[in-house]
Amino acid sequence: MALFGFKRKKEDQTDLEAGLEKTRTGLFDKLKTAVAGKDTVDDEVLDDLEEVLVTSDVGVNTTIEIIKRIEARVARDKYVSTRDLQELMRGEIADLLLSNAPDRPADFGAPLPSTPHVVMVVGVNGVGKTTSIGKIAHHYKQAGKSVLLGAADTFRAAATEQLDVWAGRADVEIVKQYQGADPAAVAFDTLAAAKARGFEVVLIDTAGRLHNQVGLMDELSKVRRVMDRQVDGAPHEVLLVLDASTGQNAMRQAQAFTEAVDVTGLVLTKLDGTAKGGIVIGISNELQIPVKYIGVGEGIEHLQVFDRASFVDALFGTPAA
Ligand code: GDP
Ligand code: GDP
Ligand code: MG
Repeated sequence: MALFGFKRKKEDQTDLEAGLEKTRTGLFDKLKTAVAGKDTVDDEVLDDLEEVLVTSDVGVNTTIEIIKRIEARVARDKYVSTRDLQELMRGEIADLLLSNAPDRPADFGAPLPSTPHVVMVVGVNGVGKTTSIGKIAHHYKQAGKSVLLGAADTFRAAATEQLDVWAGRADVEIVKQYQGADPAAVAFDTLAAAKARGFEVVLIDTAGRLHNQVGLMDELSKVRRVMDRQVDGAPHEVLLVLDASTGQNAMRQAQAFTEAVDVTGLVLTKLDGTAKGGIVIGISNELQIPVKYIGVGEGIEHLQVFDRASFVDALFGTPAA
């Protein structure tokens, strides 16, 4: 990540490793069983490996893709030892993970393509939208950017108060209205305030909606339209928040959301405390949407810019020098 002079902090990697602990041990225990008593990668090992990946929530299509790549390698090199398998998987998985588009600053300190840079955050109830907004706001603030939050989740009574608490923690400002207000109107007011007062980053919270509720999806489109009228090209990012611990259910939510809204990046929360972290690999590959942030705890610091290299390192250990 030398692109913006961003250096990975050592404690970030430690948080990440701790966050992925359950996924890693789960995956390795299964891998060990799959290769037990074997020296080379043969058809039986590949079959077992396929099962390991599927049961680690990598997803069927992505698993097939990884297996095919390893098969090709075995066919080419004739002999691939089971000891090489881990390195092979690391490489193939890193290849499958997508990078972020350069116009969507990956690093909080990076220059913004335009201001206000507007980010709309969507997802079903309870996945961690509001919490992630609080964390993202904090990180932007720490990087010296001015941040304004828009409380466009007007549906639930406590939603605005919850965002308000996060605004306090992150020491940023918030635009809010009463419960039941039109979310599009809140978004509109937030963007108007951001323009008038020169805020650099705007984060819009939205009501958790079920992906099968057509009316609510329409409302989301309306919020989008209203923002674009206020600030050209807004929202510049639409982040879909998914709870990684829900595994394949998160995959289904993602499929439905991406059909209804133009999602530019994923936030995978609650990676701490789940063994289903394999979802990070599959979801990004199958939807062709990059994972932008990951949540590894409930605290304000527990959010990281997703980095493919750190992720595979945390999953497989750093490669032997
Ligand atoms: P929303 O309904 O999508 O806005 O979800 P909230 O932000 O209210 O979060 C729901 C719950 O998930 C809260 O109890 C959060 O503390 C928790 N949560 C959010 N992100 C994470 C995370 O990365 N790790 C853990 N362990 N909990 C999280
Ligand atoms: P449409 O559904 O695409 O026709 O969008 P509208 O023009 O009806 O606007 C959608 C919502 O945005 C409305 O419910 C308004 O509350 C809000 N809105 C639009 N213009 C303004 C404005 O100038 N000020 C405020 N505060 N809200 C606005
Ligand atoms: Mg919320």
